[in-house]
Amino acid sequence: MVLVKLQADGASTVDRETTSAQDSAVLHRHLGASFLSLEKGQSSYLVLEDGRMIFDASGGAAVGCIGWGNRRVAEAVTRQILDVPYCPTIFYTTKAQEDLCQLLVDSTNGHMARAYIVNSGSEAMEAAIKLARQYYLELEQPQPQRVRFISRRQSYHGITLGALAVGGHVTRRAKFEPIMMKNVSQVSPCFEYRGKTNGEPDEAYVERLAKELDDEFQRVGPDTVCAFVAEPVVGAALGCVPSVPGYFKAVRTVCEKYGALLILDEVMCGMGRTGTLHAWEQEGIAPDIQTIGKGLGGGYQPVAGVLVGHRVINTFEKGTGVFVHGHTYQGHPAGCAAALEVQRIIQEEGLLKNVQELAPLLSKSLVDEVGSHPNVGNVRGRGFFWGIEFVANKETSEPFPAEDHVAMDICEFALAKNYGVGVYPGGGSVDGVRGDHIIISPPYNVSGDDIKWIVATVKRVVEDFFAAKS
Ligand code: PLP
Repeated sequence: MVLVKLQADGASTVDRETTSAQDSAVLHRHLGASFLSLEKGQSSYLVLEDGRMIFDASGGAAVGCIGWGNRRVAEAVTRQILDVPYCPTIFYTTKAQEDLCQLLVDSTNGHMARAYIVNSGSEAMEAAIKLARQYYLELEQPQPQRVRFISRRQSYHGITLGALAVGGHVTRRAKFEPIMMKNVSQVSPCFEYRGKTNGEPDEAYVERLAKELDDEFQRVGPDTVCAFVAEPVVGAALGCVPSVPGYFKAVRTVCEKYGALLILDEVMCGMGRTGTLHAWEQEGIAPDIQTIGKGLGGGYQPVAGVLVGHRVINTFEKGTGVFVHGHTYQGHPAGCAAALEVQRIIQEEGLLKNVQELAPLLSKSLVDEVGSHPNVGNVRGRGFFWGIEFVANKETSEPFPAEDHVAMDICEFALAKNYGVGVYPGGGSVDGVRGDHIIISPPYNVSGDDIKWIVATVKRVVEDFFAAKS
């Protein structure tokens, strides 16, 4: 059966029915859709079956971080599959898994004690949620009443039921709410563009959000909460939204006040995407549990992970020592080998330095050249993780209606009209307000000229798209 098919004119067809019926945030495949067929990945380019080359300016969904077609990674995975293709982790481990976990723990400057390797960001979040719950049962004085989680509206934490329940992605949750766990409540995200009042100083905004969180702990009963869950830089749901300075210190303080854990979801914003290996390094705090994914294996294998801090590990060590969890394919040798090689390449080639050095060029040129467009409401991000939010009215920040599916259409326009650039769409609603954005998240090894080309091309796409739309 042919699942992926190239249209005669090379254009992709998207999930039009679903997007128009719901919201452009619903970007899932329609059974009747056909897709551009990829022939190969080559450096920063995706090469289509008809030979056209797309500069992958978003690394898919912020996955690709060393580009495509890397022989070192391919060879490491091949070697691993020939040596040990599968590892039943109930009895065994592999050098690849041990080395990867060590590399990850070492990367946290002593903050994290152990790493746990799974296959997807959603699995990592499920494990994080269960770890947090079990932690309270492992305490010398167990706290079985801790059954609740507090998270933030319009965050995305994964597609499986537990991850979906702590997530605040309205459209992805809607159909499944009746079968999701109910012991989750949500507070406002830290979203300067739409959440901060006019002229409100950062400190006042942080104080207001910390109070909202504190009030939520009080409302649900502080000793019933396992953890507060947040993305340090919100990815797919809001479009690369960092918090204002001091926010994470403030929410960390609230968690400590009530003895709750802090889970940071770095599946999208982590592993170097924001310029430091871990996004929390820029917040002056460390989480108790952290999830990682996309950039860990850079797209070469499905691999994700959970990093666990000393407080949780020490408690398990004094308790049963057994996390009641596991997957057939956890710690998969091919995933570990790929991730290990990708991370070594990032280290050896100084790619985080490249991100740090070129991030100001990316941010300034996006803000100056794309941000000035009348339909661009806001440009925000960090490192190589940038979001462009589109609005119908720049003055009032009024969003486009959902049925315009602007974010998806812009990405599709760029592909169909052969601009040669691939960017990633997203959107949704926060507290009843919609937003459409695209994400620019190039591989960490692009050059300054690549960045200039991406920005100039995205600018043309945005100008031509809205000119054609009006
Ligand atoms: N958490 C965040 C922040 C994500 O962006 C995603 C995926 O987009 C997930 C979790 C889920 O990861 P996966 O799609 O690998 O299951």
